[in-house]
Amino acid sequence: MDAASSSGQPLPGGTLEVRVHPRKGRTLHTTRLVKAGEIVLVEAPTLLLVSPDLSHATCATCLRAVGPSGIVACSGCLRACFCSATCQRTALSTPWLHSATICSAYARLAALGLPADEHAQLRFLLHAVALRHTQSPEAAARYAALLDLVGRPAAADRSLAARLAPLLAEALSGAGVPPPALDVEELAALLVKEQLNSYGVLASPQQQQQQQAAQAAAAAAGARKPEASTSGKAAGGEDEDEGEDEEEERMLRGSAIYAQASLINHECLPNVARYDYFDCPRPHDAPAPAGPASGAASAPAVGAGTVAGGALGGGASALPLPAGVPGSTHVVFRAVHDLPSGTELAQSYVPLHWGLLERQLQCREVYGFACTCPRCQTESQWSDDEGSDGGDDDDDGDDDDVEEEGGSAGVGVAGMEEDSDSAAAAAAAAAAAAAATAADGEQMDMDEILRPITAPPGEEGPLESNYLHLFLLKYMCPRPGCHGTAAPPSPGSGLLECNVCGGSRSEQEFLRELERTRREEQRAAAARGRGRAGRR
Ligand SMILES: [Zn+2]
Ligand SMILES: [Zn+2]
Ligand SMILES: [Zn+2]
Ligand SMILES: [Zn+2]
Repeated sequence: MDAASSSGQPLPGGTLEVRVHPRKGRTLHTTRLVKAGEIVLVEAPTLLLVSPDLSHATCATCLRAVGPSGIVACSGCLRACFCSATCQRTALSTPWLHSATICSAYARLAALGLPADEHAQLRFLLHAVALRHTQSPEAAARYAALLDLVGRPAAADRSLAARLAPLLAEALSGAGVPPPALDVEELAALLVKEQLNSYGVLASPQQQQQQQAAQAAAAAAGARKPEASTSGKAAGGEDEDEGEDEEEERMLRGSAIYAQASLINHECLPNVARYDYFDCPRPHDAPAPAGPASGAASAPAVGAGTVAGGALGGGASALPLPAGVPGSTHVVFRAVHDLPSGTELAQSYVPLHWGLLERQLQCREVYGFACTCPRCQTESQWSDDEGSDGGDDDDDGDDDDVEEEGGSAGVGVAGMEEDSDSAAAAAAAAAAAAAATAADGEQMDMDEILRPITAPPGEEGPLESNYLHLFLLKYMCPRPGCHGTAAPPSPGSGLLECNVCGGSRSEQEFLRELERTRREEQRAAAARGRGRAGRR
């Protein structure tokens, strides 16, 4: 790497370096040409967390999806399980995984009957506090990595931390050791860093099915008449539960924090895609290690995630580990297309198919910034004139019309209600602006979001509409309802592999699809032309 041309700090591996950008803060850049499909980053997790509502089906050590027959349940708290005796032993002997202290705290937390999000936040704090108070170089390094993540607490984070601190102390009170002193400011910092930097880990398809079946059964048992809708809004679904069939909301089995990966900033058109392998087949699956008799012969039944027969059935997490990836908990980022030397890596924090308004709201409310990426610039120019029929290629379902998205604006409204003095604490000017806007309420938000978005000084301008359409057609998974991002599985491969369902599509299939779309557009344009001629 030529130190002369860039002031970056190289990362091990010779592919990436960290730079500092005046607006974005730390950024990751390539230091050489990276080919489409190449792995640019492989990283072990700093912390893994299981969602409380999938604790019975997700390994607390490695996040593997566990079927009912393969499970090693924690008899201490009944709130955690493991995919194998090995993972159980690791968890018990690692203070920040599922040690006796954390096990008893899990049981106490569950007894509090908290809302799901608070429950998850408290579990995160438990693990973070365990890291903080473990006297070992590894724990110290992990905790330092957590504190080094982007994010400074604002007023809302402090009040959340102040509210959670007594619950955390309560959870820790049964452990037999005096609970550590809990500094609210530090807890607030941890909470905001977790919110800004953790990756959601999707449930496996089997977990999703089981959980939905369980919820449906619970709803039926609850004897709630579906027609007794709470609001007068006939939501059009058979159940009051949203998103039942049309847009299937993917559940999360947990979350993961990867320190280096969190340096990759957001753009709505990413150039890298994230792959995880939590359910990859294990080499030692066949011989069951002599585990304590916990009812089930653990090993071969791990089937939940590992039915690799059809990659589609198991999801992308069940694909085999690529060469060079050390373990199933490592995250992998792959180049979507060629990245010349010096390219800043960009990942999308939201699914590719989301419309402009939905993306803008999510970026503001969850991540605290207003997205000014080239895609947002382009789409913000569409709404009125050009977008409606200028490109002749709009109504193809690959992008949403901005205006009618208003109804979905609820994405994350519960997120933050900061007051304006939080702005003073915010370091970046952009973050401060976003917080101030949030304080002024939704209406103001809408007006601002629907204004044309322009490039920040010195940054990239809008994309060509055609390029954007082509990009989405090519790199967004074509499987209905999937919306994953696809990248070649290896350099030079003629395939594109989806990071959600694991399905692959060849270049030829893509070109055929493209051809078919073009013909449809031409027919539609011709029909419009005839219509106009007829009216005249
Ligand atoms: Zn495990
Ligand atoms: Zn336990
Ligand atoms: Zn954007
Ligand atoms: Zn897919």
